Amino acid sequence: MKRRELLGLMGGAGLGWSVLPGAARAAQPAKDAGTQRVVIVGGAWAGLSAARELRLRAPELDVLVIDREPVLRALPLSTPWLVDRTPERMPRLDRAALAAQLGYRFVAADVQRIDRAQRNVVTAQGGPYAYDWLLLATGVSYDYGAWFGADTRAAQAAQTLYPAGFVASELDVLKARLQSFTGGNLLINVPAPPNRCPPAPYERAMLMAWWLKSRRIKGRVTVLDAGGGMPRFTRLFAERYPDHIDFQPHTTIRAVDPFARTVSTDDGDLHFDHAMLLPPLRASAVVEQAGLLGHDPQGQPTRWAGVDPLRLRAPLDERVFLAGDLLDTVSPLFGHYPKTAHMATRLGVAAAQQIAARSRSGGAHATEPPLALPHSVCHVWLDADPAEQLRIETQYRLRGDGLITQAVGQHDNPQPRGEDLQWGLGLYADALGVK
Ligand SMILES: Cc1cc2nc3c(=O)[nH]c(=O)nc-3n(C[C@H](O)[C@H](O)[C@H](O)COP(=O)(O)OP(=O)(O)OC[C@H]3O[C@@H](n4cnc5c(N)ncnc54)[C@H](O)[C@@H]3O)c2cc1C
Repeated sequence: MKRRELLGLMGGAGLGWSVLPGAARAAQPAKDAGTQRVVIVGGAWAGLSAARELRLRAPELDVLVIDREPVLRALPLSTPWLVDRTPERMPRLDRAALAAQLGYRFVAADVQRIDRAQRNVVTAQGGPYAYDWLLLATGVSYDYGAWFGADTRAAQAAQTLYPAGFVASELDVLKARLQSFTGGNLLINVPAPPNRCPPAPYERAMLMAWWLKSRRIKGRVTVLDAGGGMPRFTRLFAERYPDHIDFQPHTTIRAVDPFARTVSTDDGDLHFDHAMLLPPLRASAVVEQAGLLGHDPQGQPTRWAGVDPLRLRAPLDERVFLAGDLLDTVSPLFGHYPKTAHMATRLGVAAAQQIAARSRSGGAHATEPPLALPHSVCHVWLDADPAEQLRIETQYRLRGDGLITQAVGQHDNPQPRGEDLQWGLGLYADALGVK
């Protein structure tokens, strides 16, 4: 893809399917008899990697991607942009234009319901969209119920006034809120794992502290961490920003009053002037609606999508595959895969390969290819000026007893020369098909 084409994807009007109110049903083309359809719900790192892989590996399949947002925006590399340390570096992608160029279809719509018995997907804008194979790649959603129960007014106030910025659609409003912060206590919290991009809250704290210091804003970042933190960052907080970061490990937020601007912990209440309130995360609502939540060893439903880790398939439904941040635990040795974009692309590609193989062998009881185990790379900033970065790599291996093992490596990059951007654009190119 040439630079001119990338610019088209970044800003151009959608070339592919756009769903107008009431037009969603018409957007569904007649499927040739015998053509199998893959519907991918969620068109980000996992979903778009899968769509591209299916186009390359199984051109005979009809591939439809559904996402509620017409434009893909990257969370990776967003924190330095939030504090004006860099311009926005990852281009925004027009999903319809990308789909048209790569030869799959895209519908902008909010999926409300999956009917697994009928094998179709219903959106707020229309449908149903029938599938032979379904890939769910819907990422995470916030579990505000953990703080507010049924009080949707408080939950809405928390999200509107104090967004965490852990979903991409919040980035602009988060930046605007930060820009109007004039001082006081800026609260960041880290809920109990699993979290999206585990080092992200600590990178945020470091860069926020730098931002306060460099702008001479009389403020302090308070980090309330339900866990013990990442030793690398804890040390840096104390060494470099002792006056600007107050790190409180093993402190879980039990309740939030977004109107009074207080949070309650086991240690008492804390007032904040501004906050990035991150509630516990969970797989998005449609996973629960579809009856696809995993179960813990006691048989209780978890907050994540249950998965057969060596097939990326729903344990209860051979027609449903899963990829990306929504996955439940994959190994008793380490629990969840890290919820990163890199990992999501590897899982998207692997799930697509499974679907391609299954569709060719007539469905049930197929011989699937051995799953290519994923890996993940994550670049985080340790400090802003001069820039310092850390590359975190995780590798996976299948042990003799059939369990997946994990190895984690951390590599300092004291003089970064754009390796993070190179990595991000590399993922766009290699996994999503953007160059
Ligand atoms: C601050 C921050 C920094 C990060 N930095 C890095 C990094 O440096 N490196 C890295 O590898 N990862 C990073 N990540 C993690 C990365 O962003 C996620 O792991 C990645 O986005 C997961 O991809 P996904 O495709 O599984 O889910 P998502 O990106 O969440 O995509 C899910 C998609 O599904 C759509 N969707 C959900 N429900 C519905 C529905 N009902 N109907 C229609 N559409 C729906 C959503 O609109 C969304 O587009 C970072 C995350 C954060 C928060």
